[in-house]
Amino acid sequence: MTAILELRNVSKVFGEGLFSRSRTVAVDDVTFSIASDVPAMTAVAGESGSGKTTLSRLLLGVTNPSSGQVLYKGDDLAKLRGERRKQFLLDVQPIYQDPFGVFNPFYRADHLLFAAVAKFKLASSAHEGRRLIEQALETVGLRANEILGRFPHQLSGGQRQRVMIARALLPKPRVILADEPVSMVDASLRATILESLRALNRDFGISILYVTHDLTTAYQICTNIIIMYRGSVVEAGTVEEVIRSPKHPYTQLLIDSIPRMRAVRNWELEEEEETTDAASDTRPSAGCKFAARCPVAMEKCWKQVPSLYRTSEEQIARCFLYEDQAVFKEADIAKTFARPQPEPMHSYESSQQMP
Ligand code: SF4
Repeated sequence: MTAILELRNVSKVFGEGLFSRSRTVAVDDVTFSIASDVPAMTAVAGESGSGKTTLSRLLLGVTNPSSGQVLYKGDDLAKLRGERRKQFLLDVQPIYQDPFGVFNPFYRADHLLFAAVAKFKLASSAHEGRRLIEQALETVGLRANEILGRFPHQLSGGQRQRVMIARALLPKPRVILADEPVSMVDASLRATILESLRALNRDFGISILYVTHDLTTAYQICTNIIIMYRGSVVEAGTVEEVIRSPKHPYTQLLIDSIPRMRAVRNWELEEEEETTDAASDTRPSAGCKFAARCPVAMEKCWKQVPSLYRTSEEQIARCFLYEDQAVFKEADIAKTFARPQPEPMHSYESSQQMP
């Protein structure tokens, strides 16, 4: 397996400056890669403060690591220049959470699309540029005559987000990093947008990293899932195994709460309540970060940091409950879980009821 994007022992610490009072470790020694030869759909899931968004910003090169390396096809992303940098900007495209904020209200929606064609030098004439834009809009289920010539406020939230997906598609990327792409979109439009992402993976072989707080949609569209807690990977595997048979107590807690919250759960709002419910000890832990909330914490959990253990062929968990299993080499995360999207996947309707 060759990696198009790779995090190697990456940590990101905020507030390290001379005058900073607080220090936050957003990403803590994470090793992870996205294969270039196996287009997969991988969810990175976690609640607010888990480090998932920082992880995607590191992969986009908009944030530099405090330690470790982010690599694009083996080269240090921070040192990329010239043609190599240009190729990276073509290959790796973001889709952001807010489909409103990225549009300039004074320009028509076309502006964003034609600007991308010009920036990446995708067409040799205005006519060819328009044809590419029409194709990209069609791919995400939009008709050009319904979009072009309109101002952002004349489009629905769902249309705006699909225009953003079309924009990301224009340079024919190898990887799309989608950070909470449906969290600000009306529930009735989520299915169409998520289906667009899935189609890009299936039909164009684009790897999708879907960053989300919502296990339901992760289960709906992804093949693999990585669960993060306070900057660390605590569990990873196929969505089938992790959702149906979660091994880490944190993942179990998240999944157990889903029926109570019906399909979609707002972790941000509930984190405080959950902490209060689950915490049995308020000691600071020098070992497992989850110890204070873990209902089965043991004495050693407070003193030692657990490794990742392989709990099955396709699942790993960072927890002492599995220390009789083989230790998993973090560098192998992508190699082990890089698998293409099988068909059929879960439908949006069926995924409203988690297993
Ligand atoms: Fe709980 Fe210990 Fe496992 Fe951490 S290592 S999740 S505290 S049992």
